[in-house]
Amino acid sequence: MMRQYELVEKVAAYKPELDEALLNRAYVYAMQKHGSQKRASGDPYFSHPLEVAAILTEMHLDEATVAVALLHDTIEDTDATRKEIDQLFGPKIGQLVEGLTKLKRLDLVSKKAAQAENLRKLLLAIADDIRVLLVKLADRLHNMRTLGPMAPEKRARIAQETMDIYAPLAGRMGMQDMRDELEALAFRHINLDAYTTITARLAELRERHAETIAAIERDLTAKLKENGIAATVYGRQKTAYSVFSKMQRKAISLEQLSDIFGFRVIVDTEEACYRTLGIVHRTWPMVPGRFKDYISTPKQNDYRSLHTTIVGPSRQRVELQIRTREMHEVAEYGVAAHALYKDADEAGHVHLSKDSNAYGWLRRTIELLAAGDNPEEFLEHTKLELFQDQVFCFTPKGQLIALPRGATPIDFAYAVHTDVGDNCVGCKIDGRIMPVVTELANGDEVEVICARGQTPPQAWENIAVTGKARSAIRRAARTSIRKQYSGLGQQILERTYARSNKTFSREALKPLLGKLGHRDVEDALAAIGRGELKSSDVLRAAFPDYQESRAARRPEKSEDEGWFNLRTAAGMIFRMPGRGKSKDRRNGKAIPIRGAGDDLPVHFGPDGAVPGDRIVGIIEPGKGIIIYPIQSPALTAYDDEPDRWIDVRWDIDDALQERFPARITLSARNEPGSLAEIAETIAVNDANIHNLSMVSTAPDFTKMVIELEVWDIQHLNQTLRQLRAKPCVADVTRVNG
Ligand code: MN
Repeated sequence: MMRQYELVEKVAAYKPELDEALLNRAYVYAMQKHGSQKRASGDPYFSHPLEVAAILTEMHLDEATVAVALLHDTIEDTDATRKEIDQLFGPKIGQLVEGLTKLKRLDLVSKKAAQAENLRKLLLAIADDIRVLLVKLADRLHNMRTLGPMAPEKRARIAQETMDIYAPLAGRMGMQDMRDELEALAFRHINLDAYTTITARLAELRERHAETIAAIERDLTAKLKENGIAATVYGRQKTAYSVFSKMQRKAISLEQLSDIFGFRVIVDTEEACYRTLGIVHRTWPMVPGRFKDYISTPKQNDYRSLHTTIVGPSRQRVELQIRTREMHEVAEYGVAAHALYKDADEAGHVHLSKDSNAYGWLRRTIELLAAGDNPEEFLEHTKLELFQDQVFCFTPKGQLIALPRGATPIDFAYAVHTDVGDNCVGCKIDGRIMPVVTELANGDEVEVICARGQTPPQAWENIAVTGKARSAIRRAARTSIRKQYSGLGQQILERTYARSNKTFSREALKPLLGKLGHRDVEDALAAIGRGELKSSDVLRAAFPDYQESRAARRPEKSEDEGWFNLRTAAGMIFRMPGRGKSKDRRNGKAIPIRGAGDDLPVHFGPDGAVPGDRIVGIIEPGKGIIIYPIQSPALTAYDDEPDRWIDVRWDIDDALQERFPARITLSARNEPGSLAEIAETIAVNDANIHNLSMVSTAPDFTKMVIELEVWDIQHLNQTLRQLRAKPCVADVTRVNG
């Protein structure tokens, strides 16, 4: 335990003219009052106020504040009274200690209304004298440091309250060090897994990059010295909690986190800050979009610094904060650094400096407090104000949903429940239908519109900002793809059974699963859909005397016996023969496929196909269905494999404006501008060039292959006609058309 003279020496080191007697009296009084009381850890209770006092000396606070820290638990926990403290230490200190006592009585109540009342009292006390907050934060910090021996439930509650109220409040007051440590300690108790993983990863990265970090520090110091700038340069690593909240905010993984190293450069003058910035940018490439000038535009909490991110010698990103010593103190200690000693009134109360942003915020919040009489509303509002990087929205029933800034109704839906997200088809914000990509604002009331049996579009994965929404969308897409493969597998199996005059049932498949090497019916059907398991093998397993019909059955014409739809992300619909008429679709047999990507079971063959073409699908193991125009010579390769043929038809929704691929070959005369003319002809016809390659070049002619994107066969033919009419075009034909 710290001795009396040690505490006095600590204060004397930064405040030589101190009232030494006051400190000594407070030390002895608190020690005697707490006597043999013990903390949960078994330590003497007095060690707690003493540590709180020590924290405040690190912030260079005056002896009155340090004395209040020593006395802060005496009225509550011992037989000390306000009257006695007034007599011994004066009414000013008595008032501060009583203020803290009132706050303590309200501490850690789980009821919302009581919590709000607590915060309200705290804010009023801050307005009355800023030192109440400083002692309260130091008290909370020490309690957080020594949370270990508490009961788990109490620990969780203290940690959550710290994360919700005290850490943001410290941030609001510009006390970054305090905020960082409170967050780090609370984070550890709230999410031990994340804390452990991230801390280990940070340590690993620190070790791996130790040399480069040292090199940058050396180079930078030398460069600044060359240019006559006296600077202190030191490396620092982001805290585990700041890394965690960034991962949440930007929905990125730990592996993707690149800029976790930083340097602080402390210089003498504002001008030196900008000169340092110039030197940094000339020495290393900067990362665009990361430069921020908080010197000319300070943050809400009066924070000032230049921020930039550079690409270091081994390609890792390094963030730099450049500031003067004064800016640094404000950044570390916030109101504690510049509000004290300045605004004490006649009664000796210390107020926030009136030109600080923290003062403005506190005033506004207190006005709000005076205006409203609903303490819970006040709590929510104040929490909103404290959390600058979050948005708070409400369900129509009034449930509060906290989301990172930039969150959309999609994130909101998944925050409510995974099912709500999966079935989300739209949203209302404050009663009005809005796009699901809308960025949510504080106080928005969001109603999620759901429809059963939906699959979230895969594109939402890039719109959502929360990790929860993103992983759920990915999961839903995987499930949906598996479902559509198994649906396809069932269709194929039904047809194969029917060809042999047998009736398929899922039930009948069950006894065969072992033989087929699949866990369940869905799994086996999906394997057939993917082409990994042949339907004839299933029949052979079911009926040992089964003879495969060798006769190739190219589809002659499309029989209108009922269809089911395959729909791609882009809105293309393939109708596939189903069982009875369109009632299949009404029965929910339709298998929607949404989401682009290689997982999709429907692709075009190399020569493309456009609406108006008669088409056929071929099952390609591992790829899905490949669509060919029926005249395509490539199809002869599958003549002996009737199982692989799938009847498909176009069913185009005009509203979707979908384009389709078609490959053409073209011979052009080698004359200036001919390629430009061809490109222009295609463009004025509203066709797109997806790819163009030169096949051969003769002295007179160049032969090229162009992959076009067109609406349909008419559009393709019209484009071909227009090209043919051009004098520079000798010949143009569709490949396999
Ligand atoms: Mn305490």
